[in-house]
Amino acid sequence: MTTIDTTTAPSRTEAAELPVIAHWVDGAERPSNSGRTAPVFNPATGRVQARVALADQAEIDEAIASAQAGYRVWSGYSIAKRQTVLFAFRELLNARKGELAEIITAEHGKVLSDAMGEILRGQEVVELATGFPHLLKGAFSENASTGVDVYSLKQPLGVVGVISPFNFPAMVPMWFFPIAIAAGNTVILKPSEKDPSAALWIARLWKEAGLPDGVFTVLQGDKLAVDGLLNSPVVQSISFVGSTPIAQYIYETASRNGKRVQALGGAKNHMLVLPDADLDLVADQAINAGYGAAGERCMAISVVLAVEPVADELITKITDRIAKLRIGNGAGVDGVEPDMGPLITDVHRDKVSSYVDIAEADGAKIVVDGRGYTVEGHEDGFFFGPTLIDEIPTTSRAYQEEIFGPVLSVVRVQSYDEGLDLINSGQFGNGTAIFTNDGGAARRFQNEVEVGMIGINVPIPVPVAYHSFGGWKQSLFGDAKAYGVHGFDFFTREKAITSRWLDPATRHHSENRGINL
Ligand code: NAD
Repeated sequence: MTTIDTTTAPSRTEAAELPVIAHWVDGAERPSNSGRTAPVFNPATGRVQARVALADQAEIDEAIASAQAGYRVWSGYSIAKRQTVLFAFRELLNARKGELAEIITAEHGKVLSDAMGEILRGQEVVELATGFPHLLKGAFSENASTGVDVYSLKQPLGVVGVISPFNFPAMVPMWFFPIAIAAGNTVILKPSEKDPSAALWIARLWKEAGLPDGVFTVLQGDKLAVDGLLNSPVVQSISFVGSTPIAQYIYETASRNGKRVQALGGAKNHMLVLPDADLDLVADQAINAGYGAAGERCMAISVVLAVEPVADELITKITDRIAKLRIGNGAGVDGVEPDMGPLITDVHRDKVSSYVDIAEADGAKIVVDGRGYTVEGHEDGFFFGPTLIDEIPTTSRAYQEEIFGPVLSVVRVQSYDEGLDLINSGQFGNGTAIFTNDGGAARRFQNEVEVGMIGINVPIPVPVAYHSFGGWKQSLFGDAKAYGVHGFDFFTREKAITSRWLDPATRHHSENRGINL
């Protein structure tokens, strides 16, 4: 395994006067007075580079009031005017996405090309949203009964809340806010406190694009800010992405408070490899899907189910590829980018490490061990080496729970059915993939597997923007998926109107206003 030599990192104790990352309210940065902040690290150096404001109740109320006032303005904008703003936002984003990628890498740690990749997937949703007039057209039934027409309108909800996780600070918010705004709502985004700057950059871009003040608000904070949105009678809906326990809490609390909820949770995605699969392709894809973004993707592959007799050969191929992976600062050095950056925090790195301990204690074989991994020049960075585990018992917590790090486990199974049963017996149902050259087997898999998003020889099957994103079981609470047609349905309320206008010929001549039929 090679490491990228990087410049000397300042130690965490060198942090002097740190900037405080503010809210965005009424079209401007709003510094916080709450007296509460959280550290924002550069995970590659381990250094605290800023602090982020954590809203108090007064700031939550101010953000909600601003979004409420913004709604009165924005909901009065014509379709054509709203579309102009969306097109301007798309153009600015496309032209300046490199700035956003650097911000993401500096706070999240992922390599720049990955940061760019997440922006492009978010931009797809912006592009979908620019076509909103077509998707928001109502329906019209003429003469449902004699002289009676029935038609429907799709109207915005009002103020909507978006609560996002650390692992996609640009893409996940973009799964929601372009559609919400296009539909005429105003959005309060509560980003992850671990990488809060992307949201502020996006807010500035909206302003440049001509979005009126109060339509896009950024509320920095922790549980207090989340609960403030959940408990406000003004906030009409919550779109949440994060870990399963919090997704469940959000779903239950928001539903109890009468709100619409989209609540996407965690994952444990399996790749089923049939004996006829191309093992070089499988090994390449397992590396990409298991270790890309240091495994901090909800669609990462964390388990390879190898249908025997392929396990030994596949493990050798994956191990060879791991040896060539370059681990380092995601920002790269002298224009050379590594394959994998650090994890988000030292606390998270230690949690990932503890899962490898658990697997080992439960009898698994640690084929490649990433524990204690350091990068020269970045010794304080939150790095964890790519890890490959073989023969992990399916009773182990390290098999059953989400690890969310660069840890790939192999389970050897004897048949397609044994592999399928394992996938279907898990608590999560976000993504899965089958690798095979047998179309009939793939077709059977897509039908039988209890998972929301399925790849056939595709390891990370994130649907394009005009489909919808969402898992099954503990990966999604409720039935509202992100983006696509689901997104437009979620962010609008339908009104059905039944109207009767009498034909002039049926009225008395004197009431006929000169229309002689
Ligand atoms: P997280 O659940 O810790 O945090 C998500 C959001 O919830 C953050 O904004 C955070 O501030 C807030 N939050 C945290 N604790 C809270 C509490 N007790 N009460 C109220 N709000 C709280 O998740 P994370 O660590 O930021 O993100 C990683 C998780 O997100 C993983 O489990 C991953 O699988 C999941 N994820 C899922 C998807 C998906 O589409 N299903 C996509 C991305 C990430």
